Amino acid sequence: MDIDLMTYAFFEGAIVPHEDAKVSIATHALQYGTGAFGGIRGYLDKSGSAINIFRLPDHVGRLLQSGLMLRCDLPYSPDQVQQTIIDLVKKNAPDRNVYIRPLIYKAGIVLSPKLTGIRDDLAIYMIPLDDYVDMSSPLKLMVSSWQRVEDNIIPSRGKITGAYINSSFAKDQATEGGYDDAIMLNREGKVSEGSGANLFVVRNGTLITSPVTADILEGITRRSLVEFARDQGIPVEERAIDRSELYVADEVFLCGTGVQIAAVGSIDGRKIGDGQRGPITEKLQDIYFSLVRGEDSPYSHYVTSIPIE
Ligand code: PMP
Repeated sequence: MDIDLMTYAFFEGAIVPHEDAKVSIATHALQYGTGAFGGIRGYLDKSGSAINIFRLPDHVGRLLQSGLMLRCDLPYSPDQVQQTIIDLVKKNAPDRNVYIRPLIYKAGIVLSPKLTGIRDDLAIYMIPLDDYVDMSSPLKLMVSSWQRVEDNIIPSRGKITGAYINSSFAKDQATEGGYDDAIMLNREGKVSEGSGANLFVVRNGTLITSPVTADILEGITRRSLVEFARDQGIPVEERAIDRSELYVADEVFLCGTGVQIAAVGSIDGRKIGDGQRGPITEKLQDIYFSLVRGEDSPYSHYVTSIPIE
């Protein structure tokens, strides 16, 4: 079933009803996956009168960097993209949590798979979104037999549309096997990440996550949690993670804009810790959720609060 888009989208330089934001079937990005996207959450502030966007400049920065990898040439500065997102949120005036999806794409109609000499464009749409995964119980994950795309095939640090075929293979395999999601290993056989989220493990009180050279998307939530944890005095290591470390971890959680911070209860049928959400996962969830809901937080500089009339 198709998801419902919010009323207005940004398309070809203007805010228009989303029904009018349509492309040709011959669009290069549709044929070859030559697009880059962002996924940004807007949380309804506890006051009910603002939408709080988590790390908007960082999301826009990564989007434009992904566009750079695709050699996109857009007439928008980072500030203009940020302002356009803010304008679109104001126009849609949501009274609930939302997800904002900006997309840079090769909009021209050109036959060959290449990156230059094709018109580029920016489109943005919004959907209502609460939890993307069931947060009421810890996730059941499997290690996928699909290997994570690597930098020299399709750069994972770019959020490139076509690369998500790789995530789709892994996610399908997992859900059809009765799991909630997949963990993907990279070519070295080390843990990379989930199908749409980064991964942390806790071992003996240390928080460990794969380095940015492990073919991961450089997650904005991941980076934030490393900072939050260090500020709490929790030791953090960014280093290669072996598959078997997953099985003996005290806690595992996924993190990302969509999944937020989601505890993992089992991997490949093996219980993680006592199978319940662990204390470090809970602590980081508390910091994150109080921040995005607009409660007092030492990290409030990470939130762009957009008043909604
Ligand atoms: N990895 C992948 C493959 C993703 O799609 C996402 C979601 N954007 C993430 C990690 C998490 O990144 P972020 O925290 O920036 O949303």
